[in-house]
Amino acid sequence: MEVSLDQRLCRGDCVCELICPQVFVLDEGGIAYVTQNSTPLEGPDVWAEVPSGLESAVLDAARECPAEAIFIRGGDAGKE
Ligand code: SF4
Repeated sequence: MEVSLDQRLCRGDCVCELICPQVFVLDEGGIAYVTQNSTPLEGPDVWAEVPSGLESAVLDAARECPAEAIFIRGGDAGKE
C-alpha cells in the first residue's frame, strides 16, 4: 500500500498526525506531509510505501481527513 498527500488541499487540522504519527508529520504551519524513512515528501503525486502494520491507521487517517487530502493506492484500500 502507498500513500500520498496533497498539501494544496490540507487544512492543517492535524487529525492525520494524531492517528498515525509514524507516517504523517506536520510542518511549522500545520500542513501535513507523508514520510518515507522519516523524510517528509511533498505531494500530490509523490507516494510513500506504508510500513507493514500501519495500513489500518493510514486508512483511518485518510477517512478522517476533513479535506480529503490523503490518497491511498495498492493493497485493498480503494481510495485513490
Ligand atoms: S487530516 Fe487532512 S487536513 Fe488535517 S492535517 Fe492531515 S492532511 Fe491536512
